[in-house]
Amino acid sequence: MPVSASTLISLLIPGGLVFLASAVLAQTGVITAWLPAAGDIYLYTVLVAGLLLGWRFNRSRLFFAVLVLAIAERSLFAFARGPMAVTAQGKLVIHAVTILLPLNLALLSLLKERGIATAHGLWRLCMILAQPLVVAAACHSQFYALIPVFDTAFFKLPLLRHIPGAPLSQAALAAAAVSLLLALAAFLARRGALESGFLWVMPAVLFALTARKSGYLCSYYLSTAGLVLVVSVIESSHFMAFRDELTGLPARRSLNEYLLQLGSRYVVAMVDIDHFKKFNDTYGHDVGDQVLRMVASRLAKVTGGGKAFRYGGEEFTVLFPGRTIEEAQPHLEQLRIDIESAGFTLRGSNRPPRKPARPGRSGSPRKKVSVTVSIGMAEPGDRQNDPYATIKSADKALYRAKKAGRNRLAA
Ligand code: GH3
Ligand code: MG
Ligand code: MG
Repeated sequence: MPVSASTLISLLIPGGLVFLASAVLAQTGVITAWLPAAGDIYLYTVLVAGLLLGWRFNRSRLFFAVLVLAIAERSLFAFARGPMAVTAQGKLVIHAVTILLPLNLALLSLLKERGIATAHGLWRLCMILAQPLVVAAACHSQFYALIPVFDTAFFKLPLLRHIPGAPLSQAALAAAAVSLLLALAAFLARRGALESGFLWVMPAVLFALTARKSGYLCSYYLSTAGLVLVVSVIESSHFMAFRDELTGLPARRSLNEYLLQLGSRYVVAMVDIDHFKKFNDTYGHDVGDQVLRMVASRLAKVTGGGKAFRYGGEEFTVLFPGRTIEEAQPHLEQLRIDIESAGFTLRGSNRPPRKPARPGRSGSPRKKVSVTVSIGMAEPGDRQNDPYATIKSADKALYRAKKAGRNRLAA
């Protein structure tokens, strides 16, 4: 699984930045004086924002994660400070929160969005609320037999003594390590902003748990964990609005914004797949979708400063800011040739899940079908600079390319 620069950026922005900024503010002591007063405002703002945003955007994982954080925060604030922390009740609550909090968040990072007011949502809500109820019942019936088990040091780990703040039990450290791995797996599988957010929630929670004796600092880091998720959901919503889901290219909305930023010199190219309807009719809509992805991946690599968008259906737009048709044409011609020579290999029905080392020997016979595109180009007129009029001209040029026999450029 290659880790590209874009993966690293999606890992860091925005959740990583929020966590790192918040950690710097706390570790340098900048916020220490503000904490008791501003901490509560921070906490409740994040709580309300997370629940509202989760509800309105139907992001159940944000909703439930903020709920989990809030329950943990209230429990630690009541039981993990001062004389309460050394009572049997306090110890049990601390063990329960330090073990269960990271695991709950990691599981949420792995789950699919299945709604809040749905059967799935209600089931998840019950599972979350059952945990503090079980702990409360254990405290009520003075069932403390598990405390020595959780206190056990299974391994000799002298380094642990150097962790600042209240040390974590080895059971809690194991839970944190497992949670981190689960959140990492969720991120690598989906690479979305929310999965990246859940990954950064882990260190925030770890900082909070080791700062549990101070109360306010602990709440501050738990609020930060919530804020990381809130900004991650905003980021992923923005991404969804501006990206085309099928091809991964910037979508029409993105094109509309980009058009308004263009200067007076640019080239618009409209790219349309030839006889695409026949493709769909012959091989099915799924194969049609794969062809769209293949063409889009070629368009994304266009040279000469071009930027590709999915215009809609099987039509794409490539913009060349600051270029003339003479300058853009060779790059578009190269694109046309690339797509033509790539073709499209039909997947056999018993196609192996991975690309075989020696292709063509196993499975059903592969069939290569040719995919071509026609391209219409246009520049803004001398007198008027209306990008939508330029798109219209490019559309007319595309029509001429089609009429002239397809698989060609026209201006
Ligand atoms: P031409 O060479 O003249 O462009 O012919 P064409 O068949 O490509 O043109 P036409 O515009 O008639 O067909 C476009 C087809 O694209 C119709 C529609 O079914 C299909 N289509 C549009 N969007 C999608 C999509 O997202 N996935 C799939 N599989 N098909 C799509
Ligand atoms: Mg079309
Ligand atoms: Mg077409």
